[in-house]
Amino acid sequence: MREFSANIKEEMRYLIEKIKWGEKQGYYFYLRNLESYCGRYVKVRGRKMLMLGSNNYLGLTFHPKVKEAAIKAIKKYGVGSGGVRLLSGTYKLHEELEEELAKFKGTEAAGVFSTGFMTNAGAIPSLVGDNSIIINDEKNHASIVDGCKASRAQIRVFVHNNMRKLEEILQYYPQSYDKLIVVDSVYSMDGDIANLTEIYRLANKYRARIMIDEAHSTGVLGRTGRGAPEHFNLLGKIDIVMGTLSKALGGLGGFIASKKEVVTYLKHAAREFIFSTSLPPPVVAGVIAAIRVIKSEPYLLGRLWRNIKYMKEGLKSMGYDIGNSQSAIIPIIIRDEINTFKMAKELHKKGIFVNPVVFPAVKKNESRIRVQLMAPHTIADLQKALDIFKKSGKKLGII
Ligand code: PMP
Repeated sequence: MREFSANIKEEMRYLIEKIKWGEKQGYYFYLRNLESYCGRYVKVRGRKMLMLGSNNYLGLTFHPKVKEAAIKAIKKYGVGSGGVRLLSGTYKLHEELEEELAKFKGTEAAGVFSTGFMTNAGAIPSLVGDNSIIINDEKNHASIVDGCKASRAQIRVFVHNNMRKLEEILQYYPQSYDKLIVVDSVYSMDGDIANLTEIYRLANKYRARIMIDEAHSTGVLGRTGRGAPEHFNLLGKIDIVMGTLSKALGGLGGFIASKKEVVTYLKHAAREFIFSTSLPPPVVAGVIAAIRVIKSEPYLLGRLWRNIKYMKEGLKSMGYDIGNSQSAIIPIIIRDEINTFKMAKELHKKGIFVNPVVFPAVKKNESRIRVQLMAPHTIADLQKALDIFKKSGKKLGII
């Protein structure tokens, strides 16, 4: 095998040494193997742990109706689709899912991609041109950043959720420019919500389009779980609604919900849609069932919000800094990286599965433990976690 260049070798050496150092200290929490389904409790190396680090917000990855639909589809269609959507990979199920998603999001149409990441990476470059400015919140997801990089547009970034800064950028460019504002509707590391009411007002004032990433909002925000547009009373009014099928919807994949012409265009223009194999039929059938469960079992959303409220109040009352969390993601902001790892280690030892988040996923002085709640958690589970958070935080001098 030929040698890598010096730069790459150096990069590899640095990263591998960092991983080895983390492993030695007990600070390496990546690639932990689950030996069970992702419920309230998971099995990790034979040990039962309380899961507080999953995007499976409504527990739909293992809901009986979702599993049954996937099993039925696997029996009828097999495992994979065998082709890309445009050629041999569109099954009736894919179109059924797209119709369900459009109805759920209150748009004319929806188009399904194979992952959420690919949806942003593929849709954004197709929706802008030489004359476009993409205006991003600084905390937008990596897939949006990559989509922007692959586009021919100019990229501008505003301070997180700062509407004055957003307006300054909108004001700066004359009307002749095509402007696209892109925001996460729930931010994945902070759990706060984009100020969609104001973004919508500014977009109208400066004739900009809006694209929102609903990865952590779909199935979580809004009275019936339809996401941020429902929460802000803007259903059907956002130009481009992107979402994932991989979080509250319990499966895998991503989608764009928008006007019919936009969806049809993306299906024939976005490289990530055109050149990648379509979603496996059992996943598609499972997600269709998941959307129906959200509608028919509204108590799941109620339970998720009961849990969010309980955990937020518990953590706040102990003196933890949980930022401005308004969703199922609650950051415990510790700031110091080593203390964050120490806390994760302590929690792991006590049987709590959480994810530490450090640079480059967040800024250097913003290291945190990310807590994520699910509908299946019971109050007893959460109280047990809170007791451990209290003891561990006190022991490490964090609270
Ligand atoms: N957008 C956001 C805000 C996300 O958090 C994620 C997942 N981490 C994605 C997009 C990508 O979605 P997926 O995991 O379905 O590819």
